[in-house]
Amino acid sequence: MELTCIMCPVGCTLKVEKNGEDIIVTGNACPRGAEYGAKEITAPERIVTTVKNYKNGTICLKTDRPIPKKLIDEILREIARKKVPEKIYIGDIFIKNILNTKSNIVVTEINL
Ligand code: SF4
Repeated sequence: MELTCIMCPVGCTLKVEKNGEDIIVTGNACPRGAEYGAKEITAPERIVTTVKNYKNGTICLKTDRPIPKKLIDEILREIARKKVPEKIYIGDIFIKNILNTKSNIVVTEINL
């Protein structure tokens, strides 16, 4: 598998291969790339961002830590289902520990 490391702006092209139980990462200029490549092939994670309507505008929401990539659709459905409270502020937790991931959905922006 070939992929681009997203851990810093350099964007090294990584080659990730499985050899039995071993995972071999090449192309990384630093150890963070090796860690990222290994994680991508075993348990990929992502920060999720989304937007919801709020009054006459929108609020921007984001997970406060990476969540398993396979849960993204379910998390977006959870966020869509939850009603936005009447009063909300930047930094508020919109959903705590979503789907038991230990990640909170936080308000990052309010546009009215
Ligand atoms: S491998 Fe290291 S230097 Fe290269 S993009 Fe990833 S974090 Fe940056």
